[in-house]
Amino acid sequence: MSATTEKQTHSFQTEVKQLLHLMVHSLYSNKEIFLRELISNAADAADKLRFKALENSELYQGDSDLKIRITTDKDAKTLTISDNGIGMNQTDVIEHLGTIAKSGTADFLSQLTGDQKKDSHLIGQFGVGFYSAFIVADKVTVVTRKAGEQPDQAVIWESAGDGEFTIEEVSKDNRGTDIILHLKDSEEEFLEDFRLKNIIGKYSDHISLPVEMLKVAAPSENEDDAPAAKEFEAVNKATALWTRSKSDISEDEYQEFYKHISHDFQDAITWSHNQVEGKQEYTSLLYIPSKAPYDLWNRDRQRGVKLYVQRVFIMDDAEQFLPIYLRFVRGLLDSNDLPLNVSREILQDSATTQSLRSAMVSRVLKMLEQLAKKDKEKYQEFWNEFGQVLKEGPGEDFANKEKIAKLFRFSSTHSDSDVQNVSIDEYIERMKPEQEKIYYIATESFLAAKNSPHLEVFRKKGVEVLLMSDRIDEWTMSHLQEYSGKQFVSVTQGDLDLGNLEDAEDKKAQEKASEENQGLVERVKSVLDEQVSDVKITMRLTDTPACIVAGEGDMPLQMVKMMQAAGQPVPETKPVFEINPEHALIQLIDGEQDEAQFAEWVDVLFNQAQLAESGQLEDPASFASKLNKLLLKLAK
Ligand code: ADP
Repeated sequence: MSATTEKQTHSFQTEVKQLLHLMVHSLYSNKEIFLRELISNAADAADKLRFKALENSELYQGDSDLKIRITTDKDAKTLTISDNGIGMNQTDVIEHLGTIAKSGTADFLSQLTGDQKKDSHLIGQFGVGFYSAFIVADKVTVVTRKAGEQPDQAVIWESAGDGEFTIEEVSKDNRGTDIILHLKDSEEEFLEDFRLKNIIGKYSDHISLPVEMLKVAAPSENEDDAPAAKEFEAVNKATALWTRSKSDISEDEYQEFYKHISHDFQDAITWSHNQVEGKQEYTSLLYIPSKAPYDLWNRDRQRGVKLYVQRVFIMDDAEQFLPIYLRFVRGLLDSNDLPLNVSREILQDSATTQSLRSAMVSRVLKMLEQLAKKDKEKYQEFWNEFGQVLKEGPGEDFANKEKIAKLFRFSSTHSDSDVQNVSIDEYIERMKPEQEKIYYIATESFLAAKNSPHLEVFRKKGVEVLLMSDRIDEWTMSHLQEYSGKQFVSVTQGDLDLGNLEDAEDKKAQEKASEENQGLVERVKSVLDEQVSDVKITMRLTDTPACIVAGEGDMPLQMVKMMQAAGQPVPETKPVFEINPEHALIQLIDGEQDEAQFAEWVDVLFNQAQLAESGQLEDPASFASKLNKLLLKLAK
């Protein structure tokens, strides 16, 4: 290898500098993972070459025996990871080894706290890849030549991980990449064969490429013998994990493979491995991570599975096989039915894609259902991390909406706990014999839901209500509408229909109350006038004087707020004001003869009800002054 042009010095992208610094400090306790990351990259490089060579076998230049080699030089204290994969040219090197292409990197870095424990957890989710070399090396040299290019078009990249890197054109005999780690003095353990084999066995048995190391020659008996030729041997199993029989794969192997394909540092929570033969032939291996990735809410983030066709790697992030609401699923699909020359465009319109996609979705939903049955605690962890994403499901995947809803968990008045752990099935089991509908309340916060006056009648009758406080809930419910033939009813919407929960006596009492208080209702109506669509005698309240309710066909109040926050136009709607004639305050104002005074009371009660419902008022200052005036009068 010899330099053919002048050395250029470049500066790392700012984010890389920050990441390098933090990574080296926070991942130190788990330092051996650098080898997994580098072998993983080498295996990916081989996959990419194999894929490109499907169209152009010249790229192999006679060497299609793809492999990874690990060598050491004890004198120079270097550890080298070599592959004969796709390689990189100068542009690739600058782009891939000087910047971080991941979306949302700046956001991610801003979440780092400087607390090593927390940060190592976050960095694990981010996936550090190549840069992890700097955990053990104080200098890294990369010599690489891209497949299809000339020996003198190779590049040498070098950096001490301190903010800058240099690149220079060199000559390299063979295609592929050598990553040379100049180990720190304290990291000499990574020069020992035994240690290296151990790590490779742990992290790389499942990749389909052989990882080779020099065979240790048996000591020669005759000193005059010529030194034995250097011979390499594979130190991993080198069979793609998903092609092996399920019964031969241990849990640890599944977990290691997960880390390899996801770049996650933590174990998966569960997985589903399926080898399907017959009309459709495919293997899928799908995992649920235990923690949400740092960019789960970034709609542009890459998602989907790794796609293989007949064992050949085709692409990463094939998003056609999973809907957006399952964007947290990681894994792979290996199809025998798709053509090897498949492209993203072909996938888009293919009937095979459609049927594979629905098979994948069923697999994921079934895997989650099984997890929920088998291990409640783990399912709860899953739900806490990804439940809100799953709630996008009914709006996106109409055909599966019941199956998705089966996986939902909510808080409820059954325990009044803020842990979302009540399934709809469980709710239905507890329903009163005469109850026909599933009641829920959706508000801004758990406390607003739990303490809502709308629940008073339900608490009195002992009827359970699901308590929802995620932003997406109202939207989800608008798509779900029913489950197992039972309608969902928002307790804050329209005339309260308690169906058979209401007996003849209740109805009679309600009618009587409405008749008796007709005069009061009219008086209140004339005060509020344009602000409400109607005033009614309530059947919801027991301890609260009044509340507001969205009209029957109107958009739910929570949804109005959500759309306003998103800057979308919302139709103007007026609420219904319901009053509770049993309440002492309502009785007090009923007796108020002074109309101006009466109007003040009504205004204050109406504002209070608005406040309880949405946590805000259009004119809070005048509410406060009206209230103070009334308080002063009472104090006299
Ligand atoms: P990631 O693998 O998550 O993309 P890395 O930081 O590990 O992130 O690597 C960045 C990029 O550098 C890779 O996507 C790949 O394009 C390139 N790269 C790294 N190692 C190799 C290699 N051995 N051969 C070819 N390209 C590589």
